[in-house]
Amino acid sequence: MAHNAELISVGTELLLGNILNTDAQFLSRELSALGMNVFYQTVVGDNPERLRKAVDIAKSRADIIITTGGLGPTCDDLTKQTLAEAFGKQLVFHAESAERIKDYFEQNLHGAPMPENNLQQAMLPEGCVILQNDWGTAPGCIFEAGGCHVVMLPGPPRECQPMFYAHVAPYLRKLSEDTIRSRTLKLFGMGESAVEALLRDRMNALENPTLAPYAKTGEVELRITAKAASEDEAERLIDPVEREVRAILGDLVYGVNVGSLEEVVLALLKEKGLTLSCAESCTGGLIAKRLTDLPGASAAFKGGAVTYCNEAKHALLGVSETLLAEKGAVCAEVAEAMAEGARAVFGSDLAVSTTGVAGPDSDERGNPVGLVYVALATPSGTTCRELHLGQSRDRVRTTAAHHAFDLARRYLQGLPLEL
Ligand code: ATP
Repeated sequence: MAHNAELISVGTELLLGNILNTDAQFLSRELSALGMNVFYQTVVGDNPERLRKAVDIAKSRADIIITTGGLGPTCDDLTKQTLAEAFGKQLVFHAESAERIKDYFEQNLHGAPMPENNLQQAMLPEGCVILQNDWGTAPGCIFEAGGCHVVMLPGPPRECQPMFYAHVAPYLRKLSEDTIRSRTLKLFGMGESAVEALLRDRMNALENPTLAPYAKTGEVELRITAKAASEDEAERLIDPVEREVRAILGDLVYGVNVGSLEEVVLALLKEKGLTLSCAESCTGGLIAKRLTDLPGASAAFKGGAVTYCNEAKHALLGVSETLLAEKGAVCAEVAEAMAEGARAVFGSDLAVSTTGVAGPDSDERGNPVGLVYVALATPSGTTCRELHLGQSRDRVRTTAAHHAFDLARRYLQGLPLEL
């Protein structure tokens, strides 16, 4: 039986537009990965009457209600109180949770005295399963009443998300006799709408597994989700769909269930015993940052130079002054010279480089915002991509870095370097 889950996000600051409802986005994504329907999300302010109305409506059409927020000491336990009342339950004191809250204060707030009203967080609906909060003070809880499973989670995403993974996802999985498995194919080099257009008929025809695209900055994820009696069977259902998608999208797929392009590049470098360096202009260190965010990067990453002005490109990387004077910094020849310079300076097997106009204004030579050159220098030669990445500074820089990693990934996998 398919479960219908409904989300109620409690918080006046959500209604005022002060914060984005990222909890709802997170929960909806995770619930659909668990094979649950989410037909409604409601946002309600810190107001017990309106929350009660939202709960009564949700009860009439969902068998799982998940609330976020309103568990803190400042709002009089609005959520627990209201939900308990709506389902005819009392709040009772839970001594163990009170001890945990006291410990949390001692350990994380350096012995700051705990305000008495924090103990309200240890008042929980009678008979509920208590969801221990190892990431903050307010415990969450789950109870079942009137044919409905009610889950309450704290609002801060750094608490809500780990608590969902640790406690709620295992609970929800048990409600379903089926196992849900997902496989995520990561793609670089084609936009979401083009991917969707290629796969639309197939996506519409598929019921189990389902196939859904998710757009990320400059990248697309395709998630294949299958429901079956066992994990093996679910994996078997996913296999042919993955093969089909790969046959259509070919080497645009850079990984399955992997974190990022740079993770794939680092793994390939290590596997082949090769090293990489970078020379960055418009990405301003982003490539080096993304690589060094990964543990173990030192095994393959030699270093990077952020050469923003022409003098630095010449002095640190040996880019010809004549070339810079004649053509300016934003051209293929400079990108290639930067990559070759980095390769020589750092003594790495490969080097990537970026030079371009991140915006918001075009450069002094009239090069448009979004024009970027990304190069890769290797023992067998240097390649450059000319890119037109649009108007958003953030997007231009992020996507330029993606391209640098994609060039390296393609080289390391022996694939054509051009998209
Ligand atoms: P606390 O114990 O920290 O008070 P709480 O469960 O009472 O937690 P709220 O007081 O409602 O949660 O919200 C605390 C903070 O959590 C908000 O100021 C906001 O930064 C964040 N937050 C709350 N709800 C959401 C949401 N739906 N999406 C993203 N962030 C949220």
